[in-house]
Amino acid sequence: MDAIQVMNLTFSYDGQNDVIKDVSFSIPKGSYTTIIGHNGSGKSTIAKLLIGLLPAKSGEIRILGKTLNEESVYELRNHVGIVFQNPDNQFIGSTVADDIAFGLENHCVPQEEMQAIIESSAKKVGMMEYLDSEPTKLSGGQKQRVAIAGILAIEPEIILFDESTSMLDPQGKASINAQIKQLHTQKDRTILSITHDMEEVAQSDFVIVLKDGEVAMTGSPMEIFAHAKEMEEMKLDIPFALKFSKELIKEKITDQPVCTLEEVVKQLCQ
Ligand code: ADP
Repeated sequence: MDAIQVMNLTFSYDGQNDVIKDVSFSIPKGSYTTIIGHNGSGKSTIAKLLIGLLPAKSGEIRILGKTLNEESVYELRNHVGIVFQNPDNQFIGSTVADDIAFGLENHCVPQEEMQAIIESSAKKVGMMEYLDSEPTKLSGGQKQRVAIAGILAIEPEIILFDESTSMLDPQGKASINAQIKQLHTQKDRTILSITHDMEEVAQSDFVIVLKDGEVAMTGSPMEIFAHAKEMEEMKLDIPFALKFSKELIKEKITDQPVCTLEEVVKQLCQ
């Protein structure tokens, strides 16, 4: 069964200019999909449409087989968790621990189980020492870690990440990406991640490329990275190792690729 089905979705903020134009895609249950695209291509708008924060102009969204509409939106939100790029608007608790607890309470997790879940999810994102801190006083990257801990605690069936690691350093990103990957492989959660991080894209099963509100390409990371020219035209990056390899050939330092696309993707997926 598909976790998410998007059929001929169109949306406009002003009622005239469509920023999402007849977009269709399906996301199978238990898959890990990444959405990439240049700034303004419509990625965040799609995330908001998927959780019913914005109303579609036309088309249909089905979550776990059920049509998303005004009636179903609250029930469906129990199955879908989202971590936004800017976590400031997401904090409710006065401490990090309270904030994670709030989500657990909403999901009716028994009181006696909460402390262990709060600690283990804070540990996964490296925020154990900050459980008593005020979320608003943390750095941008730390806030993102706390927002992600909130989702790791609940483990909803479908998780949307909207550039949720954008403020982390490469090491921080890699460690959170490993947690996301684990949610997907060990817990069979459906992950949909909007990202600019090509190392993360490489570890996903399926990639959707958006351009000016339309689906420009879809495929496995390998299929997408093979379209280097189109990626460049859309101002999209490719994984560092591939870029480096291409530069060496361009500068005539070597005439053979130092690594293949397959090797890069395999290495990043370990
Ligand atoms: P992305 O996440 O890919 O950067 P967005 O979904 O944020 O793209 O934006 C898609 C388009 O919608 C852009 O042209 C942007 O200017 C426009 N847009 C985004 N948010 C709003 C808003 N609140 N009101 C009007 N236009 C918006």
